[in-house]
Amino acid sequence: MSEYFRNIGSGISTILTGMGITLRHFFNAVKRKGDAGIDEENYFNQVDGLVTLQYPREAIPTPEIGRYRLYNEIDDCIGCGQCARACPIDCITIETIKVTKDDLAVCGKTSGGQQKRFWVPVFDIDIAQCMTCGICSAVCPTECLYHTQVSDFSEFNRDNMIYHFGNLTKLEAEAKEKKLAEEKKAAAAKKEVSEKSEG
Ligand code: SF4
Ligand code: SF4
Repeated sequence: MSEYFRNIGSGISTILTGMGITLRHFFNAVKRKGDAGIDEENYFNQVDGLVTLQYPREAIPTPEIGRYRLYNEIDDCIGCGQCARACPIDCITIETIKVTKDDLAVCGKTSGGQQKRFWVPVFDIDIAQCMTCGICSAVCPTECLYHTQVSDFSEFNRDNMIYHFGNLTKLEAEAKEKKLAEEKKAAAAKKEVSEKSEG
């Protein structure tokens, strides 16, 4: 009989302990209701009250060292193509056009002072395929390709997941290609004349 009452007592004590923990979390959660506490400084150190975030009004901060959405600062891109060659799943598409001599100044330099020698009319990243491995940004010689802290970039339309960073329109690219072809033709003609005069 005494064991019977002991079991009841133990059951009541277990329920009270559980309820105590539940109520503690409940009141802590009510206390932090609103935007309080959701910032980079202290979010990951909080242990109480974090039950449900009111997303998107509240969102978990992304750590500074995290790798999230890619971005290409195209003004600093030299069109070397190393990123596209290094990407293990080929989700970077790049097309370049050699800059003609008289366009070098127009094409300009990177922020690090390197002369750019290629136009980059197409620089597309299929971000839906990108697995954020970081290989492309690691090999980029000008560090223009980098991961931002933007972690939420869902889209209804799959096509919107292809990000375009190219620095020429289609018409501009056609004009640059034509100009380059003319430069090559003139150089070939000059070479022929000089070879004939030497011969
Ligand atoms: S992060 Fe990885 S998968 Fe994404 S584009 Fe760069 S190399 Fe490709
Ligand atoms: S590696 Fe960097 S500089 Fe080279 S094409 Fe890619 S983004 Fe541009």
